[in-house]
Amino acid sequence: MLIPYGRQDISEQDIEAVVDVLQSDFLTQGELVPKFEAAIANYCHVNHAVAVTNATSALHMACLALDLGPGDTVWTSPITFVASANCALFCGANIDFVDIDPVTYNLCAETLSRKLEQAERSGNLPAIVIPVHFGGQSCDMAKIGELSKRYGFKVIEDASHALGGTFQDQPIGSSAYSDITVFSFHPVKMITTGEGGIAVTQDIELAHRMQSIRSHGITNIESEMLARPGNEIWNYQQIQLGYNFRMTDIQAALGLSQLTRLDDFVRNRRRIADRYDEELKSLPLHLPGKNLACESSYHLYVVRLDVNNTTKSQSEVFKAMRQNGVMVNLHYIPVYRQPYYENLGFSSGYCPEAESYFQEALTLPIYPSMTDIQQSRIVSILTDILSN
Ligand SMILES: *Cc1c(COP(=O)(O)O)cnc(C)c1O
Repeated sequence: MLIPYGRQDISEQDIEAVVDVLQSDFLTQGELVPKFEAAIANYCHVNHAVAVTNATSALHMACLALDLGPGDTVWTSPITFVASANCALFCGANIDFVDIDPVTYNLCAETLSRKLEQAERSGNLPAIVIPVHFGGQSCDMAKIGELSKRYGFKVIEDASHALGGTFQDQPIGSSAYSDITVFSFHPVKMITTGEGGIAVTQDIELAHRMQSIRSHGITNIESEMLARPGNEIWNYQQIQLGYNFRMTDIQAALGLSQLTRLDDFVRNRRRIADRYDEELKSLPLHLPGKNLACESSYHLYVVRLDVNNTTKSQSEVFKAMRQNGVMVNLHYIPVYRQPYYENLGFSSGYCPEAESYFQEALTLPIYPSMTDIQQSRIVSILTDILSN
């Protein structure tokens, strides 16, 4: 039996919630999407939420709502899924990368600070910075928020990994130091809607812009429409260019049901992470580094090979684990090393901390329904590989 690195946990209650929608009048544009949005907003202690097809479109929509366009630049972490960077390119903007912190693997706030000083001198400050809460542990948002005030850039938190985590005892998503926070509901993430994503914000103006972008830039609200001859029927108007990024009610029903189970999921993930911490501590590995201002949701549990204390290479361990049925993974290849990004002019070595991480990291399986027996198997296989 293969052990995946992550997987969804679907209950009878989840299934019933979806079946109920299938038997109802509205499969999309019914009442469940607004209900799901309200539930996420409430969970995150934030005023507004806009649910969409996936986190990639949420990032795209967030960039558009913040008026990103040609001539602007976005900065993000190199150690993330490509979508965190692609959203800048969708808008015709430029992309650049801020190297990671070697302990938390998050975009490093100190490196950001130094890069901003240089950018100010050369007159190419970013319009938007997208910190990514790697594995579910928040970036140093207090510091990033302070820098955003000083240098005048906007902040979108890519919290695709981090629903259920906290920073300074506030839920990730409360957006205290950012303009917009984005979550993903892909099946490996904290809760799932199949595909799905959401953008949350405290700013009602940004929320309205995102609602418009999500649905073709069309409105049917009288006060938002231009005056037209009274004998013509104008029951809707397109005011700006938008997309169809709408989530279905089928997905929202699953999301609402999953959200009631989120705290259990997080508890289970933390228990599994604690056990890894304990049972792997004498192996030649660096275990996940903790920022004490954060509680991680543990979307990922990443170890780094301590290359000074083992002769095993990362790829040997990766292959051996997989041969034994443990589907370890690598999160992530630095985005700028992808062929598409190399064609934009980036090259190997651009972010030194990200490069050494790339040479050493392995994602071990972690998901709420993982059994003690599965985890024992993972630990013993890894122990054997590193001891031979
Ligand atoms: C999964 C993920 C995304 C994209 O999410 P989708 O819902 O699959 O579009 C974006 N950023 C990060 C960091 C992710 O892990």
